[in-house]
Amino acid sequence: MTERIREFLRDRRERGIDEGPVLVVDLEVVKDNYTAFSKALPDTRVFYAVKANPSPEVLCLLAKLGSCFDTASVAEIQMALAAGATPDRISYGNTIKKERDIARAFELGIRLFAVDCQPEVEKIARVAPGSRVFCRILSDCAGAEWPLSRKFGCEPGMAVDVLEHALKLGLEPYGVSFHVGSQQRNQHAWDRALASAASVFKECGERGMNLSMVNLGGGFPTKYLKNVPTVKTYGNAIFKALRKHFGNQIPETIIEPGRGMVGNAGMIETEVVLVSKKSEEDDVRWVYLDIGKFGGLAETMDESIRYPIRTPRDGDAMAPCVLAGPTCDSADVLYEKTPYPLPVSLEIGDKLLIEGTGAYTTTYSAVAFNGFEPLKSYHI
Ligand SMILES: *Cc1c(COP(=O)(O)O)cnc(C)c1O
Repeated sequence: MTERIREFLRDRRERGIDEGPVLVVDLEVVKDNYTAFSKALPDTRVFYAVKANPSPEVLCLLAKLGSCFDTASVAEIQMALAAGATPDRISYGNTIKKERDIARAFELGIRLFAVDCQPEVEKIARVAPGSRVFCRILSDCAGAEWPLSRKFGCEPGMAVDVLEHALKLGLEPYGVSFHVGSQQRNQHAWDRALASAASVFKECGERGMNLSMVNLGGGFPTKYLKNVPTVKTYGNAIFKALRKHFGNQIPETIIEPGRGMVGNAGMIETEVVLVSKKSEEDDVRWVYLDIGKFGGLAETMDESIRYPIRTPRDGDAMAPCVLAGPTCDSADVLYEKTPYPLPVSLEIGDKLLIEGTGAYTTTYSAVAFNGFEPLKSYHI
């Protein structure tokens, strides 16, 4: 984790600033991540998934570096535009959109939309005539620590009908998209999805539609407790899979990294509010922090994402703890099924650092549940 963040926090402490939990994001790391993606997949355009961290600082930096943006709402489109992206660098990638939001996006200049069924195609045809659409196909998300279920996408066979419907209604059937599941630790997960994508290309071709683009989605991981393969490893595996399924007719490709772009750039500083036991004999301590599920750590749901935590007492003897947030909701427990090892010497008031928290934290924090303020953030 970056020395710049530690220095920022040290300086804040010396000046006596203490305003509760805070996320600090190092923009140098975001820049390095963008460069790594561009190098690992040189012929692929990067559409940063805005929802992972929509701060103006991150968006402006990425816009300057040449990134495109994947958005899910009119508000996100406006944020990307405000950061300096032109409409041709923005996709409206949510498959679930109100017709009036599609109309507004069209007014703003957006011409690239995701669909996964015919009714969505019809909305776009009505209010965004002539636009490009790509159809999202289902993916089983095996190997992902934060899978995306069956909420988005359709069976590949149906995608062909959806795209044909788009053509009939005057839209441009542009390609296919999928998402192999977030925090995808298996670089080969793209292989099967690309086999399905290639089958859609083939069948569309037989019906006289020549698709141009495969949207490879996100899924690129952040290192939490377990090691993850490098971006280069993912790039190589994806390129091999493209060759295998598309031969020498590799289509235009895009990726939509969210977590992989910003996750490792951020660190949350939190404070120990209480250390207690449920009985004298209990050998598992309960450690309560001033941040929990409602303060930004929503991805600890089902204990899916296990963040690395640093303490000022690392090196002392460790013992497992139940780790919980500060609110009066019993769901606000971070790790209990698999208790988290922390130093035995841990005390009330200790400041802990939660690493890998640059993605999916600020926007998941509640506005004022129990009167706790939303997670503050600094981008340095
Ligand atoms: C959330 C999302 C992403 C980003 O996923 P990561 O796993 O964070 O990289 C990309 N594309 C779409 C359509 C998404 O909804």
